Amino acid sequence: MLSIPVRILFGVDMALGCFNYVAWSWFAGQRFSALFLFLSIFSTHFPDADMIPYLFLRRRYRLVSHWVVGHHPLLLLPFVAVASFVAAKILMPDRVSYTVALITSGVLLHFLHDGASSLGFPWLSPFSQARFRFRSGKPIVVPQAETEQWMSYWKTRERSAADEIAGRTAPVTIAQFLFWGAGVLALIVFVIDL
Ligand SMILES: [Zn+2]
Repeated sequence: MLSIPVRILFGVDMALGCFNYVAWSWFAGQRFSALFLFLSIFSTHFPDADMIPYLFLRRRYRLVSHWVVGHHPLLLLPFVAVASFVAAKILMPDRVSYTVALITSGVLLHFLHDGASSLGFPWLSPFSQARFRFRSGKPIVVPQAETEQWMSYWKTRERSAADEIAGRTAPVTIAQFLFWGAGVLALIVFVIDL
């Protein structure tokens, strides 16, 4: 079994962070900057920071998913856009739109990745808990009974914090590794092509 840091390092969100960085930097004509590469990779992982409060609160509130704090797209996306706008206005006033686009689309890419989950993703959360999954490009509402079934299954299981994290980061597959390689390659081409 691969360790958790290795799974995160070679994860889909890492590759998405590289692609997001290269796409926006190329589009905005920006030179390579380790700070903005970091911001992009940070933003494609950011919603999963709700794993931290989840690990502390899961037993008290009988939570079965960490998607309770950071996984509300309709709240988090506007919040991230406004917060990055204000921060960029103060810290890097000459790159405001680039910063906002890079960070907001990074968070959106994270949600799109979560949205590929077979359990579905609550795109309208916190206004509706309905989960959607996509079939040939069309959103389909996941039946409530199906969601309740796996939730009650997880409620009966006692899991350690390590199990929780390992369970949320899927093992690295060949397809994922190729995707990761493509992301890193795009980054290398961008850096060399200065
Ligand atoms: Zn997530």
